[in-house]
Amino acid sequence: MKDRNVHDESLHPETMAVIAGRPDRAPGGPLNAPLVPASTYHHGSELVYARDGNPGWQALEDALGELEGGHCVTFASGLAATTAILDELPSNAKVIAQRAPYYGVAELLRERAGRGLIELETHADLTADSLGRTVEGATLVWIESPTNPMLDVVDLPAVIAVAKQAGAMVAVDNTFASPFGQTPLTLGADLVVHSVTKLIGGHSDLLLGAVIAADPAFHARLLHRRQSTGATPGVLEAYLALRGLRTLPARFERMQATARDLAARLDGHPGVSRVRYPGSGTIISFETLGSADDAEAVCGAAQLIVHATRLGGVESTMERRARYASEQAVGTPETLIRLSVGLEHVDDLWRDLERALTAVQP
Ligand SMILES: *Cc1c(COP(=O)(O)O)cnc(C)c1O
Repeated sequence: MKDRNVHDESLHPETMAVIAGRPDRAPGGPLNAPLVPASTYHHGSELVYARDGNPGWQALEDALGELEGGHCVTFASGLAATTAILDELPSNAKVIAQRAPYYGVAELLRERAGRGLIELETHADLTADSLGRTVEGATLVWIESPTNPMLDVVDLPAVIAVAKQAGAMVAVDNTFASPFGQTPLTLGADLVVHSVTKLIGGHSDLLLGAVIAADPAFHARLLHRRQSTGATPGVLEAYLALRGLRTLPARFERMQATARDLAARLDGHPGVSRVRYPGSGTIISFETLGSADDAEAVCGAAQLIVHATRLGGVESTMERRARYASEQAVGTPETLIRLSVGLEHVDDLWRDLERALTAVQP
């Protein structure tokens, strides 16, 4: 892949987020990669038709690739990115995954297993030990850490080492941690997947996904897969996602600080029976006292926090996840509320949560 911007390796990720994926500095040239709406190109280069590529996708891919330390391909959504990887597997490939990854990924895996395309094995708690017992013959180990919405954390270095030793490929869904929480390729993973829709986009206005591959040959296969399936991102979406990425470090830091504070306060609240927060990141899942209806009432009673699905935006959102049958199927507790912490002031958020939690006050 052509490297449009070669950067000093010693630069920090915060700096890379600002400078990567820019056009060359030319007198009179724009600072930002221009938005190029085009369904076709003049003949004479490898860019022929819109499915082949777009300068705006390339700019976003350059930046995300730099931050994760690999070669990036963007897709129409996180699930389109996931599908592209699964489409690359040989028939009857053995795939190992957690029992409860993001429900959309779980459904893709289950559906393929049901049609006999893959042999799926799931682990309730994916550890180096549990993987070691069953990894033989595996083609792909799919890891999500922390998981959505249970916030289970996998010991990435240990689990990746066991998978690699057995010759399996490792993909890590890094949506919840973002490249500022962890960079799985530096821990030995082969592929990183992002729902760019979430933290990277960050403003609840786009759907986009990405895969970052360590191996340039696998990257080339994914580019071809995107071209052949047409799971291409929108041009505006790619522009907005790169704009979001520029401020991700600052947003992530502030949202994480607020989440840490709120997790501690929720832990001491009499209406809350359990708080799941891994100590880092911007998402908190907590269980309330009372019934599923009571937990729904908490979500409905919030006035500042938005009652909606979706996470990673500047606005805080919360939702009782077991409202979906597909979440119940993977064992998500009835009263578990997933809270995505945004950029509002921590005291305003806490006042809103306290007010909402009166719905389950003992
Ligand atoms: C949302 C999400 C996805 C799916 O991404 P889309 O962009 O919605 O297709 C995959 N993994 C995780 C962890 C997610 O939160």
